[in-house]
Amino acid sequence: MFGTNGIREVVGKTLTVRFVSDIASAVAFVHSGMGPAVVGTDARTSSPALGRVAAGALAMGGIDVIEVGVLPTPAVQYNVKALGAAFGLIVTASHNPPEFNGVKGIAGDGLEFTRATERAIEEAYAAGRFVAKGYQEIGTLSTDGLAIKRYVDGVLSRVDVEAIRARKFRVVLDCGNGASTGTSPVLLQHMGTRYTTLNGNPDGTFPGHDSEPTEENLQGLVQHMRAMPADLGVAHDGDADRAVFVDEKGRFVPGEKIFTLMARETVRQHGGGVVVTPVTSSDAVAEAIAPFGGRVRFTRVGSPVVSRAMQEDKGVFGGEENGGLIFADHQLARDGAMSLAAVLDVLARTQKPLSELIAELPPYHLVKRKVPCPVELREKVLAEVPSMMDRGQATEITTLDGVKVRTSEGWVLVRPSGTEPIYRIFAESRDRKKAEGLADSMTKSVNDLVRSLSARS
Ligand code: MG
Repeated sequence: MFGTNGIREVVGKTLTVRFVSDIASAVAFVHSGMGPAVVGTDARTSSPALGRVAAGALAMGGIDVIEVGVLPTPAVQYNVKALGAAFGLIVTASHNPPEFNGVKGIAGDGLEFTRATERAIEEAYAAGRFVAKGYQEIGTLSTDGLAIKRYVDGVLSRVDVEAIRARKFRVVLDCGNGASTGTSPVLLQHMGTRYTTLNGNPDGTFPGHDSEPTEENLQGLVQHMRAMPADLGVAHDGDADRAVFVDEKGRFVPGEKIFTLMARETVRQHGGGVVVTPVTSSDAVAEAIAPFGGRVRFTRVGSPVVSRAMQEDKGVFGGEENGGLIFADHQLARDGAMSLAAVLDVLARTQKPLSELIAELPPYHLVKRKVPCPVELREKVLAEVPSMMDRGQATEITTLDGVKVRTSEGWVLVRPSGTEPIYRIFAESRDRKKAEGLADSMTKSVNDLVRSLSARS
């Protein structure tokens, strides 16, 4: 039931009031006798109503509930821990299209539910173990109006606010009509920036652009930055656990570049440390942090996996190449507002524009492709990946997640998507043409194999 990042379904079809209520009841069963729980939501049209359904079901299951309203996912995570709650539920579908919504569970430590907790909830749900408390044991419902302040203060405490304020940065913020509309403008105000907001009102129909912060979807931000120059452009996805950036020249900064920059700066500040990131990440990370005593630990794809690995390995920084950055000093969760504050902190400390900081990074080119692949063919195709490379070309094969093949020119990774019937192909090299060549030849090989396997079956 739980995917790599919680439950995501279509509202009114598979995601019904009944479903959310039953899930929350199963969550209450698994957390019997514990509490309080924090319930927050993103800005989707169905979120406030479904949030109240979840809160009501938890209370009927005997759990005291603190409702925090519309908040970014990392802000709910922060409040779960700060309030000493037993756990939290977030009604959100992150960057998915408007017809989706979902439920995400947060453990008392602010990280996503462990797989063991998810399994217990799935079992309780399947067995219909929904708690029915008598009138004396019903949980209380209360509202916390300080959740935004608590979160923003938490972010501000991790950066040099005075140094940032002194620079009077000009920032263009694209909230994408999502949950960041209530938090990132407040943060920018506290940091003394002169900021302009695009798509700054919460609207679950996402009238500005799709809620996934891709270069394609952020053309409005790019155009704005070119017409009215500013020091930094930033955009969040729907639940604002991610932040992506546009430099002062109006150029979209690829996620792996910001990841590498912030990994280097965090390791430098800590005088070393472990950076945790999935196998899809750039080789630039290891190269950039090595001189400062940093090393990389690779994991499977999925931010909850990265967070848990950071907890185990005391990682100082982690995250993914899609704009999801995790700063361990703040919390072990991807955090869009923290990323924004941290980037401004680096701009203030180095006194360099973002384009210059990016240009200093090791010059790697990461290319991404998608190939349709029916779910039933996945294993067969994956097994053939190593043989698709010319013999002798592969210097190392890793199967931590999908199949990653290293060659003398770079690497290529093929991995099935957790949510769609596609393969994602990543290729990287110091030479753009070679990266594209690796991606193209693997895309063609996988396409050909899928076609011949489909014809046979
Ligand atoms: Mg998200």
